[in-house]
Amino acid sequence: MKEFKVMPIKNGTVIDHITPGMALKVLKILNITGSSDSIVSVAMNVPSKKCKLKDIVKIEDRELAPEELNKIALIAPSATFNIIRKFNVGNKHTVELPDTIEGIVRCENPNCISNKSEPISPKCIVVSKNPVSLKCFYCDRDIVDIISNII
Ligand code: ZN
Repeated sequence: MKEFKVMPIKNGTVIDHITPGMALKVLKILNITGSSDSIVSVAMNVPSKKCKLKDIVKIEDRELAPEELNKIALIAPSATFNIIRKFNVGNKHTVELPDTIEGIVRCENPNCISNKSEPISPKCIVVSKNPVSLKCFYCDRDIVDIISNII
């Protein structure tokens, strides 16, 4: 089986080795919609050597911020990304969650202090990175449905 080749882009970011089926969720957390300006290419269920199948997302003229990469690590912990400048493919980086994440995932407990009106931003302890498991820093509750609670 031939390895899928991503068409070269001049500037932008290529996110590779995304968990199959997660490419559209990656677009969602990056707020990429049909009305976005950037040229975005998505390949899903691509055969790969490293993992059996993978998704790939290519975004032109956009470099991702660290908090965006953290969000991707939540739903696709094996993903890698390349930042491309003037057709130069930089080093491959893996996404990695820090030990705590703040302001990215909401606590599921409606009575949690982070869900009250006080100006406290939600904070989660990363219990495990792959597969991802989170619990609330304030009330200790496990976040069961991470994807729905991404801010
Ligand atoms: Zn909580």
